[in-house]
Amino acid sequence: QGYLARIDELDRQLNSFITVDHKAALASAEQADQQRAAGNEAALLGVPIAHKDIFCTRGVRTSCGSRMLDNFVPPYDATLIQRFNASGAVSLGKTNMDEFAMGSSNENSFYGAVHNPWDTDRVPGGSSGGSAAAVAAGLAPAATGTDTGGSIRQPAAFCGITGLKPTYGRVSRLGMVAFASSLDQAGPMARSAQDCAILLNVMAGQDPLDSTSAAEPVPDYCTDLDAPLSGLRIGLPAEYFGEGLDATTEQQIRAALQELEKLGATLVDISLKTTELAIPTYYIVAPAEASTNLSRFDGVRYGHRCEDPEDLLDLYTRTREEGFGDEVKRRILVGTYALSAGYYDAYYKKAQQVRRVIRDDFMTQFEQVDVIAGPTTPGPAFKLGSKGNDPVAMYLEDAYTLAVNLAGLPGMSIPAGTADGCPVGLQLIGRHFDESRLLNVAHQFQ
Ligand code: GLN
Repeated sequence: QGYLARIDELDRQLNSFITVDHKAALASAEQADQQRAAGNEAALLGVPIAHKDIFCTRGVRTSCGSRMLDNFVPPYDATLIQRFNASGAVSLGKTNMDEFAMGSSNENSFYGAVHNPWDTDRVPGGSSGGSAAAVAAGLAPAATGTDTGGSIRQPAAFCGITGLKPTYGRVSRLGMVAFASSLDQAGPMARSAQDCAILLNVMAGQDPLDSTSAAEPVPDYCTDLDAPLSGLRIGLPAEYFGEGLDATTEQQIRAALQELEKLGATLVDISLKTTELAIPTYYIVAPAEASTNLSRFDGVRYGHRCEDPEDLLDLYTRTREEGFGDEVKRRILVGTYALSAGYYDAYYKKAQQVRRVIRDDFMTQFEQVDVIAGPTTPGPAFKLGSKGNDPVAMYLEDAYTLAVNLAGLPGMSIPAGTADGCPVGLQLIGRHFDESRLLNVAHQFQ
């Protein structure tokens, strides 16, 4: 009730939710109370949670921030939603996001921009900006997000919360609307590393219905939170501290790293020479996969359909013209081009080869360090509208986050001071399936 009241009071200003169902939330909370009285001890029994509107929820509209799915009510729950329900969590509603998770500011939502609770003239980051703003403003104690190129870590950084993108394959993608299937991964967004660990315990694990989910055993992510950091080697890539990084942000990050040193970690200067390849590689691979994934929105099977189509071609073209926003169309155009006969080898195949080189670069560094650290973003949250007309300026926001997805690694953002009155995020990157270590470092720091 407290969270619902806070949503009623503050969300008109923040716009962090697309759908809130008071009645359903209260009924599910009441049910949790009864279960607790009956001795049920499920991990999240009665804990309110907000879900990014990219996860299919049975009987509850799942828009993915798009006009295309404004009328879409899924007949099934995503595996992640099923897992939260089974652990007793109470869903508060569905959070706002960039359309089809394409964006870094939440300004690409059909439902309007989300405002950053620290300064409502600024963006909350994207694409999981609704989840980040809701947690930061205390409208929910925790939320789910997805990260294809930074969409958990960047909004977590901009809103001063903790967010974790797990290793690719750690969390099931079944029922999560696909953007770029080889990069998409769901993860927790919360107020602390400990909360993220509790949430990841519920989310992680193989799903027989997602062939890309990993068979790797799932540890209890809370077990190692208190381990001391002595002997831990943290690599600082020179490329993450170079041109383009805001001076105050750099100061805050360096101060945070000194704290980690005091806690017993050793800082090691390293170089990730492939860093500058991440943006061009990602912006071929992600749009290519998006262009094929989004071909299913044809006005026939589900979602938006244009009025009175003249013929099949008119149905396709008008439905897609009306249903998709500008950024989504831009990605479909770029992706279709990169996959076309005659261009495939020059763009998509080349990008896949470079992707391998980026991954190998990380693997080599992880022979000498346990964790890689740096800023999550080049600076604090920017003003609403300030980059809206310049897609390239927006893409540069992802400079430090994209490579992690291309390499399939786990990455985390934790609050590390402020710059210009707004939060700064420290990014921690780990070896494949080494989420426990990231959570441990973050917990010790917090
Ligand atoms: N900002 C990046 C993009 O627009 C990443 C988005 C994401 O991680 N979903 O593609």
